Amino acid sequence: MLDIKIERTTAAKTKPDYDKLGFGNYYTDHMFLMNYTKGIGWHDARIVPYGPLSLDPATMVFHYAQEMFEGLKAYYTPEGKIQLFRPQKNIERMNNTNRRMCIPEIDPEDALQAIRAVVEMDKDWIPKEEGKSLYIRPFIIATDVHLGVHPSKTYLFAIILCPVAAYYAAGINPVKIFIEREYVRAVRGGTGFAKVGGNYASSLIGQEKAEKMGYAQVLWLDGVEHKYIDEVGAMNVFFVIDGKVITPALSEGNILPGVTRASCIELLKSKGIPVEERKLSIDEVLDAYKNGTLNEAFGTGTAAVISPIGELNDGETVMTLNDGNIGPISQMLYDNLTGIQWGKLEDTLGWTVPVC
Ligand SMILES: *Cc1c(COP(=O)(O)O)cnc(C)c1O
Repeated sequence: MLDIKIERTTAAKTKPDYDKLGFGNYYTDHMFLMNYTKGIGWHDARIVPYGPLSLDPATMVFHYAQEMFEGLKAYYTPEGKIQLFRPQKNIERMNNTNRRMCIPEIDPEDALQAIRAVVEMDKDWIPKEEGKSLYIRPFIIATDVHLGVHPSKTYLFAIILCPVAAYYAAGINPVKIFIEREYVRAVRGGTGFAKVGGNYASSLIGQEKAEKMGYAQVLWLDGVEHKYIDEVGAMNVFFVIDGKVITPALSEGNILPGVTRASCIELLKSKGIPVEERKLSIDEVLDAYKNGTLNEAFGTGTAAVISPIGELNDGETVMTLNDGNIGPISQMLYDNLTGIQWGKLEDTLGWTVPVC
């Protein structure tokens, strides 16, 4: 159990217009902070007024990117309860990322306590309107003031909160995707399975290239052969070919183990829909398209939940999926996941965790 010291704000912010929230634009009144010092461990757990961090310019995270982050949401149920969706999975992944990044692990119970405490503190910020939620962003940064490449001896763990609207105004919206054959997101032995800023920094160029051509996101291929499907934008990706649902396996270490991904696989299996976790080449996708057996494709992630792919551009072939409409499997997954998350469907799989 953490002993969390609480310093309440004396200047509560005016809440934004909840009809114009967007995503990632507004932050609540408080944040959780905790420090790590080698030889002492994690210490000084506290909730303090939200505000800037003061860091020396030589702080290691600025130069060598030793950091990690997580992302999950808190939801208001119709009964007025506040719940989290599978937070233990995020915490387990946080510690997997920490091990890869030489960042000290955090006791899973302590991490959950910290998340619940700060969410409860700012619970009046959680939107109650349909499709809106409170995005929770835990992150850890290396804080040694030192130029030199080795793991830091001190760290800061922070949790900030952000009221957000549904990612797409229409709830669920097919997007246009460009198949990226030049740049890659992750390589075997690299940090693809870890949730770290560095992965995002190196993906920006591909994203920008796609946007210039009028595409929303990039479909990444593997870093070795540029042949196998990796992820779509910052989401996991699924293809429905001839009634079977296929998603890249986690075994090569280049795929981020999404909580939404895992939940989709479990939901599909519970409904008797065949799911395969395996290597899927872009050629297999193109062949399926030509044969008329490419039924659907979609991305999965906490922010957008399910993001159907309406168009896939290979440079030569432009594949239109489902006439640019939402496919039945995408829709079923979206309805079931959001139903459980917002407490409108019975949580038969035991996925939700109450905050208060
Ligand atoms: C966070 C993330 C995902 C989705 O994970 P969820 O737990 O479902 O939100 C997928 N890919 C990348 C690269 C990510 O960073």
